[in-house]
Amino acid sequence: MEQTRHRIRGRARLGGLAAFAALALAALTTSSSMLPAPDRVPAGPSAAPDALGLGPCRIPTAVGVQMSEGLPTPSGYVRSTGVVHALNLMIDFPDAEGSGSALDRLAEFFPQTSQWFATSSYGRLSYRPHAPVSDWLRMPKPFAAYGIDRGSPYEPGYRRLVEDLVAVADPKVDFDAYDLVNVLVTPNAGPSALDTVLSVTFSGNEQAPVADGAPLANTSFVYSRQDDGSGTYAETGYRVLPHENGHVFGLPDLYTAGGGSAVGHWDIMSEDWGANNDLLAWHKWKLGWLDNSQVNCAAAPGTADYALTPLATRGGSKMAIVPLSENTGYAAEVRTRAGNDAHVCEPGVLIYRVKSDIDTGQGPVTVSDSDDDSGGCTRRPNVHAELSDAPYRPGQSFTDRENGVRISVLDEDENGRYRVRITRE
Ligand SMILES: [Zn+2]
Repeated sequence: MEQTRHRIRGRARLGGLAAFAALALAALTTSSSMLPAPDRVPAGPSAAPDALGLGPCRIPTAVGVQMSEGLPTPSGYVRSTGVVHALNLMIDFPDAEGSGSALDRLAEFFPQTSQWFATSSYGRLSYRPHAPVSDWLRMPKPFAAYGIDRGSPYEPGYRRLVEDLVAVADPKVDFDAYDLVNVLVTPNAGPSALDTVLSVTFSGNEQAPVADGAPLANTSFVYSRQDDGSGTYAETGYRVLPHENGHVFGLPDLYTAGGGSAVGHWDIMSEDWGANNDLLAWHKWKLGWLDNSQVNCAAAPGTADYALTPLATRGGSKMAIVPLSENTGYAAEVRTRAGNDAHVCEPGVLIYRVKSDIDTGQGPVTVSDSDDDSGGCTRRPNVHAELSDAPYRPGQSFTDRENGVRISVLDEDENGRYRVRITRE
C-alpha cells in the first residue's frame, strides 16, 4: 500500500516537472550554444552564492538534465539564503468551495514550514510567509475545467489556472513583492492524497505568466492532505510544502519509480510523508547552508582521517566528499536523531553517491546500506524501512573496489563526533 502510494506520487510530480522543464531546457540550449564553452550551465546568483572552491569536490552542474545535483544551482531558481518572502494564496472553485476558513488551510503549513527551514539551514534561510488575502480566492471555472490530473504539464491547464489566479488576485496582491508563490488549493478539490498526489512545483519557468511585472516562475501547488500514516495530518502533513519549495530552490526529486528505495528517509526530497526528516549535507552545501570550511575534500590518493560532527548541530565539520569523476562522487555525513531528523533509529555515518548528470526522479543520489536486506530498524509509517539502518557504525567500512575507495568509521567520541578514515588508491 505504501509502496504503491509512493510510486503513484512519484509519477505525478515527475510528470509536472518534466513537462515544464522541456521549455526551460530549450531556452538554455539555445543560449549556451552561443557561448565559447557550452559544456556547463552558466553560474547563477540564485542559490549557493558562496559555494566556490574545494576543487574537484565541487561536482559541477551537468548540462542536458532538467535539475542537476551539481554546483552551482543555475539561475532562475529562488535564492536560498537570507530573507525570502513567500506569497500564499488559498484558492477554491465553484464546484469545490472551500470548507472552513482559508486561514485554517494556511495554518496547516505555517509556522511549521518556516521553522523547518530555519532548523535545516541553521538560521541562514529566513522564510517569511505572507497571506495578503485572508479569504478563499474563487477561480472563475470549475476545478474539472482546468483538466488538472496526475502528472499534468504546465500547458495548458496550469497556465490557465495561474492566469485566472493572477486576474482574481491582482487587485489585492503586489506580486512583485515576493520571491516565490505557494498556491494552497482547497483540500476538497481533486482526489485524496491517499489515491493520488497532485502537488507539484514549476520552477525557473521563464515563460510563466507575468503579474505586476514579475513572472510567476517559482510556484508550488499543494492539493489535498497528507496524513502521517496514522490517519492524522496535523503533525507532519505540512511537510509536502518544504519538499515542493525545495524545488524552487533548485533541488531535484530523490525518489524514483521505486519510491524511496534510493535514499530512503534521509532527505525530504526523497520522502516527505511520515516522520520529519532533514536534507542531506550535499543539499545543504548546494543551498549555501554549509560553508566550504565545513566540507572536506578527499581528492588525493592516500589515507586521511576526518572528524565529522552531527549534521543536525550548528557549526563544525559536516561532510567529507570523495570525487570520482567530473560528474560523480561519494559523500559522508553524520546523522543522529536531532533537529529535523525525528525518525533516526540507528545513528552513524551516512554514505551516498551523488551523480550530477542523473536527472530529477531518476536517482541522482543513492544511499549505501551498511546492512543490506536487514529490513531496517524502524516500523514507523511512511518511512522506507530498509535504509533506516543504512548509517555505518564504528568498526564498519564501505568499499568501492572498482574505484579504489574505502571509507571506514573509526570511532565516536563523547561529544558525538565520528572519526572517518578515507583511503584512496
Ligand atoms: Zn518533488
